[in-house]
Amino acid sequence: MRLQYALTMNDPKSPDAAAMQSVSSTATSGLTRTDILTALGYLQSKEGAGLALMYAKYAKDSGEFKRAVKAAATEAQVLAIKVVSKGRDRKHAVIAQSLARLAVLEYCRTADTPGAKCRCGGTGRIADAELIARAPKDAKPDELTRPCERCRGTGLRPVPASRVYRAIVTLAPELAEHTYYRHWRPVYDSLLAWCYTQEDRAEAGYVKLTRREAA
Ligand SMILES: [Zn+2]
Repeated sequence: MRLQYALTMNDPKSPDAAAMQSVSSTATSGLTRTDILTALGYLQSKEGAGLALMYAKYAKDSGEFKRAVKAAATEAQVLAIKVVSKGRDRKHAVIAQSLARLAVLEYCRTADTPGAKCRCGGTGRIADAELIARAPKDAKPDELTRPCERCRGTGLRPVPASRVYRAIVTLAPELAEHTYYRHWRPVYDSLLAWCYTQEDRAEAGYVKLTRREAA
């Protein structure tokens, strides 16, 4: 079972929680519920940011969202120092903090987030006329599609760069557009990439832990 599903076991409010306990997903992996909860507890101490991000995204946990934003804000401060070498002031701290929050919000979107679904329907794949023309009659649906270029397979419409800028400029009205795109947009992009890296690390840690327990 992937970590993103394991997380919902911990959340009694999750509509998936009851279903998760009854289906064979734990049985097929050879893991007990206790094994999974133990692994989650251990991950909490090792990959706290990744776990908080994933709880916020997949379990829509608002407390974990705050924790994730806090971790992202710490990262944003580090990145911001590179942008504004003259040192930190309150204004820069506000921008960095806001970028962290917006990046975590973008990371947290799923296909059921209103307005987030890509034109491919959220599947991340689109029908390919060439593949269809060449395919044998018994081809599987997967063999007739290719990854969607628009969302690069995520199924989610990217948040327009201009929307992030507009959100930031309401907090820092004197921030010029070219300054934002030159200095701060790369910080935002790095923060978003940081979110995905944290998720990958948590996932990898979970795989390692549960493999050991299942063995
Ligand atoms: Zn798409």
